Amino acid sequence: MKCPFCGHTDTQVVDSRTSEEGDFIRRRRQCGQCEKRFTTYERAELFFPAIVKKDGSRTEFSHDKLRGSLLLALRKRPVAAEQIDAAISLIEERLLTSAAREIGTKTLGELVMEQLKALDTVAYIRFASVYKSFEDLQSFSEEIAKLTKPLPASSVTSKASDPAKAASTPRKKATGKAE
Ligand SMILES: [Zn+2]
Repeated sequence: MKCPFCGHTDTQVVDSRTSEEGDFIRRRRQCGQCEKRFTTYERAELFFPAIVKKDGSRTEFSHDKLRGSLLLALRKRPVAAEQIDAAISLIEERLLTSAAREIGTKTLGELVMEQLKALDTVAYIRFASVYKSFEDLQSFSEEIAKLTKPLPASSVTSKASDPAKAASTPRKKATGKAE
């Protein structure tokens, strides 16, 4: 941190202590050039909303869990680490600025899906199929049809062979069906 007296950028922390309530940290710093001392306070300004699970229980938001979910969905997909980090930052920013005290896992899932949709279609479907818990294959294929980008054939082959889908859609449909 820059010295407020002479503007020198090399200042050292000489003492650091947490307030009694533990809600801020007070630091004494000394300038390496003019040797004057000054104090800084560090406190958290924004809070993540609590995550409300389906069973009604609450849990703390976890950066690691969010990152883990995205990485799992994006496994072996051609998406750069920087893009993934940017997506995570966007999701966290949305949470921090939402002013909500708590947020459902469903809403969090939708935020994740929104980012994955922009990053990679296959990852989006992987994640959506788990998060939305598609009731049937029809809604699953409707979700696929809503996507603008056509899917690589390999990712839908296993679903297409399902007899339930074959019964509801006798003929093989072209992709990009309008809703
Ligand atoms: Zn100074």
